[in-house]
Amino acid sequence: MMKLAKEAIKNMLSPPATRKYPKIKPKLPENFRGKIEHFPEKCTYCGLCEKNCPSNAITVDREKKTWACDYGKCTFCSQCEEDCRKINKCAIKLTKDYELAKKNKNFKV
Ligand code: SF4
Ligand code: SF4
Repeated sequence: MMKLAKEAIKNMLSPPATRKYPKIKPKLPENFRGKIEHFPEKCTYCGLCEKNCPSNAITVDREKKTWACDYGKCTFCSQCEEDCRKINKCAIKLTKDYELAKKNKNFKV
């Protein structure tokens, strides 16, 4: 019982372990992988990122020259970024943007 009381008093006097998000944002690590940024001017719409995406999150339309990512499926593995870099296009970059909550689950970028 004493042990429990001691622990309770210790916790009452300590600062909270949680952050006051969204007022206080977390410090992100250098290699953090967040929302994907696609650069249409660099993209050739080759479809490599779509083919290799393990989550089937990317849709590329070669004819219409459109590129879209379904964030309901994306696991932020960065395979697409690596593939695109391999073919020297660099049309995809994972940013540090992690605030992706949307009201519509079919949200695509
Ligand atoms: S791999 Fe790169 S160049 Fe090819 S479709 Fe994807 S983003 Fe565009
Ligand atoms: S980060 Fe991974 S899961 Fe997300 S679109 Fe790219 S390859 Fe697919």
